[in-house]
Amino acid sequence: MPELPEVDHCGRALSRWTAGRRIVAVELHDGRSVRASRTARPSDGREDGESALREVVLAAAPGPMERHGKRLLWRFGDRALLLHLGMTGRWTRLPSPHAKVTLRLDDGAVLTFADPRLLGGIVPTTLADGAAMLHDGLGPDALRDPLPPLHGKRAVKVVLMDQAVVAGLGNLHAAEALWRAGIAPDRTAESVTGERHTRLGIAVREQLDFARRLLDAEEEVTYVEDAGAPNPFPVYQRQGEACPRCGGTIERFVQAGRGTWWCRGCQK
Ligand SMILES: [Zn+2]
Repeated sequence: MPELPEVDHCGRALSRWTAGRRIVAVELHDGRSVRASRTARPSDGREDGESALREVVLAAAPGPMERHGKRLLWRFGDRALLLHLGMTGRWTRLPSPHAKVTLRLDDGAVLTFADPRLLGGIVPTTLADGAAMLHDGLGPDALRDPLPPLHGKRAVKVVLMDQAVVAGLGNLHAAEALWRAGIAPDRTAESVTGERHTRLGIAVREQLDFARRLLDAEEEVTYVEDAGAPNPFPVYQRQGEACPRCGGTIERFVQAGRGTWWCRGCQK
């Protein structure tokens, strides 16, 4: 599932694939993927999605890409596309049975937005509205900005995944960052202060950097959930295996409806 590193990879791949090129044709295969606002609801797909997309991407050359948390803003002159990947979205140069949108470049290359579960989307907009939507409702960026103070009785992992508190972490990277920091995922957020908070801030950044470096080696993004994909992470989906740090056993429990993996031997 795409989190900050995967979204970051997507933005950099789109920039690289379109450098020096123009988009010359747009095909919308499923109108539900083009939305009027940053809603994740496929039922809010725009009637005029294809012409709205054309108005943005054919009018100017692809410009700079900005990211905040798991959202991207792709600039085309004074217009822009807000991109979000949802749970299963990806931009690819490979053919996909789940293609929702294809963009054709002036060198014949084809870029596809594939999204089997339709929770990602594309919002054609003006640059100003897009810049507002890029940040709207989100906390500081998990990679660029310092980890904000964490408050309240909710579990620290649940709070780390709350995009309004800190933008960019999902289930995998939150679990891994807590393991790196040696902090138990069910500890209350408000108890993560002082040196422990500093450690968590460093661990979040190290985890995201680690994941970005792994992805850097790949032209096309891979999600851990993809069939046959490697799992390079020490605790995620490794219940019953040995903790690489202390030799304890990795356990799984369900927290706010999501699986959490951790080691009670070295996460306190
Ligand atoms: Zn351990």
